[in-house]
Amino acid sequence: MFPTRRLVPFAALLGLCLFLSACATVPVTGRRQLNFIPDSQINAMSFQQYDEVIAQSTLSDHAEWTAGIERVGRRIQGAVEEYFRRQGQSGELAGYEWEFNLIESKEANAWCMPGGKVAFYTGILPICKDETGVAVVMGHEVAHAIAKHGSERMSQGLVLQMGGMALSEAVKNKPAQTRNLFMTAFAVGAQFGAVLPYSRSHESEADRMGLIFMALAGYDPREAPAFWERMAAEGGGSPPEFMSTHPSHETRIRELHENMAEAMGYYQPR
Ligand SMILES: [Zn+2]
Repeated sequence: MFPTRRLVPFAALLGLCLFLSACATVPVTGRRQLNFIPDSQINAMSFQQYDEVIAQSTLSDHAEWTAGIERVGRRIQGAVEEYFRRQGQSGELAGYEWEFNLIESKEANAWCMPGGKVAFYTGILPICKDETGVAVVMGHEVAHAIAKHGSERMSQGLVLQMGGMALSEAVKNKPAQTRNLFMTAFAVGAQFGAVLPYSRSHESEADRMGLIFMALAGYDPREAPAFWERMAAEGGGSPPEFMSTHPSHETRIRELHENMAEAMGYYQPR
């Protein structure tokens, strides 16, 4: 379904974007994106799907690790709120209901659904190594959500698969298909169906924003390249969000270093 049709000419999407006046602007990078899904609708869907995923999962009973994920999560949340406050855009986060859970799983994965619903899998903790490593992943995943990469992909999916149907209509008329589209667009996890790796531009954007969020949260962004080195060394077993070949490892490390000065401008060690 999605992968075979994703090579939609950029001009066509841009045209549609202008036609529908459905463009949004990504924070930090200022990139214009196609997104005609209201936050309130995507958040409502996200909260429901998140509760279902958590209910179907085994949560870690390791008190120390669980508390660590929560601690890093709250600091990244605080950093995001601080960033938007500085931009005079705190209202953008109005519908957020932040939540951080640690799922027992061998997969080295993590994701953040719209509205601040985060899940880490225990399999990624050895690669994170410490809380700064967790902050690299947390910053990156939260950045995907803040940049609304999932909503952008879901908008494209609604155009390609449902003729541009509004989300509320899709939920009403094609609930199963809409749920699939959601899980695919938000790269939630292989056990929930096909997952589309984020594109190179989405990954680069999440890396740049993630560096800023971790720095604002008081974690040293200069530790980020080392985390991605460890993730790359982990190799083929990498799960959905991290199996993406975009950007290539070398490109990712180079871009992290290019964005380091910007991130260091936000860094306040605690
Ligand atoms: Zn990513």
